[in-house]
Amino acid sequence: MICAGIDAGSRAIKVVLLDGNTGQVLSRCSADQLYQPGRQAQELFEQALAAGGLTRRDVRRVVATGYARAAVQADTTVTEITCHAIGVRHTLPAARTVVEIGGQDSKLLRLDPDGRVRDFAMNDRCAAGTGRFLEMVAARLGVPVGELGRMAQGNRCPAAISSMCAVFAETEIIGLLASGRPQAEIIAGVQAAVAARVAAMAGGRVTRPVAFTGGVAQVDGMAGALEQALGQAVIIPDNPQYTGALGAALAALRQIAP
Ligand code: ADP
Repeated sequence: MICAGIDAGSRAIKVVLLDGNTGQVLSRCSADQLYQPGRQAQELFEQALAAGGLTRRDVRRVVATGYARAAVQADTTVTEITCHAIGVRHTLPAARTVVEIGGQDSKLLRLDPDGRVRDFAMNDRCAAGTGRFLEMVAARLGVPVGELGRMAQGNRCPAAISSMCAVFAETEIIGLLASGRPQAEIIAGVQAAVAARVAAMAGGRVTRPVAFTGGVAQVDGMAGALEQALGQAVIIPDNPQYTGALGAALAALRQIAP
């Protein structure tokens, strides 16, 4: 029994095909979100089917999640909060806190011992605590966002980025670059600033173990910055950017066989 999860995020679309009998992921793929999330999600779904040697008829149920989930052709939709909790329960069953940093928002979920969402906080108002801020900095430095971690290695002293707003923070970064501050220190400072904004959502209360998910978990150095800000170790599940899509596929499976 095969189920599909489609996470139409604000920055990227992710698709996961899951074998419900074994719990194994059969195929996964992602693409940058452009301007027609519904059509793009459909194309990506077909791409995932082809990669897994499957056809649409092989898939019993499709669940869509994410910011643009309403635009996706699916049997039903489930919120990102629920999908991230389900995805983390599958990959890191002991997790009690989930920090998810995506392209345009960040979330902090507190889970019960059985993996259910007890409460959550979300920042979708301020780009400074999201992947968008890292992308903006990478663009300013003329490098891919995936390179930021490598470039920050060996920094001696992260630059202090004090602006609470990404727009003002960019101006601050331009000033730091102009003053000759090493790029490694600026990147480390930006990572610390993103982590601090996300950690602020926890209000000083974090139950271990902490899972770190979302596309930003792939950026080297962000886990360390988050650990510093939370005062707790964090664990990154495999393929952290696909956690929501995996949760959506698992939600589809639960809907067929509760
Ligand atoms: P959303 O679900 O909101 O679309 P994602 O969880 O897919 O967001 O994360 C997108 C973010 O992941 C980007 O803003 C970027 O900061 C980060 N990221 C990490 N690695 C990459 C990469 N190789 N290419 C693009 N973005 C990346």
